[in-house]
Amino acid sequence: MTNEVTSLPETEVTCANCEACCCRLEVMLITDTGVPDHFIKTDKWGGRTMARLDDGWCSALDRTTMRCLIYERRPQVCRDLEMGKDECIAERAAYYKSSPAPIDK
Ligand code: SF4
Ligand code: SF4
Repeated sequence: MTNEVTSLPETEVTCANCEACCCRLEVMLITDTGVPDHFIKTDKWGGRTMARLDDGWCSALDRTTMRCLIYERRPQVCRDLEMGKDECIAERAAYYKSSPAPIDK
């Protein structure tokens, strides 16, 4: 018996083939996980977020490897965003809509 292939699988959703799309979101610091001060931006009301660079990516992202430099101390918001879940899928879709397709690293 043969099975006709009617569609190809979509690119596997994994951080390994993602350009850290979720690391362009605003990340509020709601608990103390030990993020170093130089990665933190504090607004005039005392609200603390991860500092971002002019292109939108988090300042704690290693731009060579596209991995988090402070993974063990990353904020709770980053811990809660799970690979493959709705928010991850949405961020990937929004990013790759205007950028080249994910590449295998
Ligand atoms: S969690 Fe999702 S959006 Fe974030 S880096 Fe991994 S695959 Fe990309
Ligand atoms: S702290 Fe790490 S995981 Fe969180 S947005 Fe920045 S680089 Fe990404």
